[in-house]
Amino acid sequence: MMDCVVKKEAVSPLQTQNNIFPDGSKISRLQRNERFGHQSGVLWLTGLSGSGKSTIATGVEKLLFKYGYLVSILDGDTVRSGLNSDLDFSVEGRQENLRRVAEVASLFASSGHIVLSTLISPQQQTRDFVKQVVSHNFHTIYIKADIEDCIDRDPKGLYKKAMAGGIEHFTGIGQSYEPPPNPDLLIDTSKHDTETCQMMLKDYIIEHFFLK
Ligand code: ADP
Repeated sequence: MMDCVVKKEAVSPLQTQNNIFPDGSKISRLQRNERFGHQSGVLWLTGLSGSGKSTIATGVEKLLFKYGYLVSILDGDTVRSGLNSDLDFSVEGRQENLRRVAEVASLFASSGHIVLSTLISPQQQTRDFVKQVVSHNFHTIYIKADIEDCIDRDPKGLYKKAMAGGIEHFTGIGQSYEPPPNPDLLIDTSKHDTETCQMMLKDYIIEHFFLK
């Protein structure tokens, strides 16, 4: 993770050398929030593969869209299919993947979106880093599930493949997952059904993002 921090700090002198001067928008975040009727920010869903991040995020996105919220999902696999298709799954590749997603999430949030990101992001140090990148209105949402349930569910067949030795460093099998010690919201998908879990996140967003 330190590599990412170093890289980010190294950007300033490079920007000066290349004569890059990021131009701010003339529309403030508050103006955008007032237009859309809600605050913008990032809900960083973290949890094991198969814990339910995508299932919860897609359900909540649909509900909030219906209510007129400006809401978007940044899904790990989707981002890796396009923007981050040049990255591998090495430690450096994973860090860069998360750094880019955090930067994109931050841009979306600045333009008024409620962003639901669904990436395993197994290390606390990495999550601290992405929080620092986003900086404004960042919420850690821990999608908790027993590893046995994730292995049973195995929606993408990845646990089966990893247990057969086909995926190196797969989180939960070859690499550990560090639960966030103080998440803003914990949703336990081993204890509650899908609909209840989606309602928990939806209620949290309405409580924290609605303009008072
Ligand atoms: P992730 O995005 O975390 O990898 P997915 O959402 O792709 O996980 O898959 C989770 C799987 O678990 C889905 O097949 C979903 O139907 C199932 N599931 C069972 N119970 C729940 C629950 N309470 N919340 C979310 N998903 C659940």
